[in-house]
Amino acid sequence: MDHFNYEKGRLFAEQVDVGDIASEVGTPVYIYSKATFGDHLGKVQAAYAGVENTICYSIKACGNINILKFLAEAGSGFDIVSGGELYRAKSAGADCSKIVYAGVGKTDAEITEALNEKIGYFNIESEAELENLIKLAKKTGQTTKAALRVNPDVDPRTHTYTATGQKETKFGVDIERAGQVFSKYGANESVRLCAIHVHLGSAGKTVEPYAEAMQKTIKLIEKLRDDGFTIEAIDIGGGYGADYETDTAPTAADYAGAIIPFVQNKNLKLILEPGASIAANSAILVTKVLYLKTGGAKKFVIVDAGMNDLIRPPLYNAFHFIWPTAVDKGFVPGKREREPQINGLEVVDIVGPVCESADFFAQGRAIPPVKRGDLISIFTAGAYGFTMSSNYNTRPLAAEVLVDGDKFTVIRKRQNYEDLISLEKDPKDLSTP
Ligand SMILES: *Cc1c(COP(=O)(O)O)cnc(C)c1O
Repeated sequence: MDHFNYEKGRLFAEQVDVGDIASEVGTPVYIYSKATFGDHLGKVQAAYAGVENTICYSIKACGNINILKFLAEAGSGFDIVSGGELYRAKSAGADCSKIVYAGVGKTDAEITEALNEKIGYFNIESEAELENLIKLAKKTGQTTKAALRVNPDVDPRTHTYTATGQKETKFGVDIERAGQVFSKYGANESVRLCAIHVHLGSAGKTVEPYAEAMQKTIKLIEKLRDDGFTIEAIDIGGGYGADYETDTAPTAADYAGAIIPFVQNKNLKLILEPGASIAANSAILVTKVLYLKTGGAKKFVIVDAGMNDLIRPPLYNAFHFIWPTAVDKGFVPGKREREPQINGLEVVDIVGPVCESADFFAQGRAIPPVKRGDLISIFTAGAYGFTMSSNYNTRPLAAEVLVDGDKFTVIRKRQNYEDLISLEKDPKDLSTP
């Protein structure tokens, strides 16, 4: 599932000892494996090779431009949700014709930038947005293609905060309204409405919601075609599961098996927007144990990473496997699971230094005994890890390191204190009354 493995009790990222990276770069540090990104993208490409497709990796999952660059070179397009992400994609050398742009609140400036870059499709979230896009396309003299994002009202069976394809979310338009939107705008020449977009949400663990969404969406497409509209593509979005625990998520081939039959011989291009399923296993967050303490009956392991570095556990109640980077032979984990059956583990809460009770990575978790100074790895931290990090508590953002075989490179420097206040006006220059 990835290239983070123990050898003789020490954790390696591909062929690099994680301890060596931590002693050179410091902690907390995100460590990415290039081979893992490549493997996951390659599996998606292979799974859909039988149908015309564009794979648009979702930048918001993990967007360092060095990572985007090799994904682009490997043939990936990109799913963006802001002007900033368009800028990232361009800086990484992306082919803009393979960019799809979603998001309910695109500004005029962002839309104009994307028109000028001639992106592949705008994914339209409301009629008001479509009207504005038409206006801006006319104003700039550009033409573009658009996909109408519809809500198929399918339950992705995930956390409520990561479900987006049901009725009464802020995303897309109800599938029943799609016909009306096409009647009104389907003949527009500045913005050619010629695709349907669906995104169910994130971190699903089963393929059934995709089959259900495909069935409803294909039915809509056939109806629209009967009414004389040209539909060239179906974008089925992202949200494919990632292995936060060993072998628990469906594979790319499992999803393809449920999705492909619906587009075969339909003269429809398939667009996919995988984020987490490519990025999640591609990184670990390595942090150092600062202190051990007890509070009532609880044992706490306090580490130097905080919720500002990785917010998924408190935000989504997400599970991350957590284990020391150097262990005695008996403690090498067989697989990543919630309750490892190994003798001698200690049940602890693993928490950060941020002044919030929500600042935890795991509660009531069994791990090998650790002491001050030990390094701990938080696995499967590649998706919505660094990209959601913040400077809360005036904590510098962590460094990002990319491992490729037996080499590692800092692809984003750790912030320093000066970075933290660099955009603030110097109080010396503030005029006093
Ligand atoms: C976030 C997002 C994705 C990616 O979701 P993952 O769960 O990371 O695969 C894809 N498409 C859209 C529109 C998104 O907002």
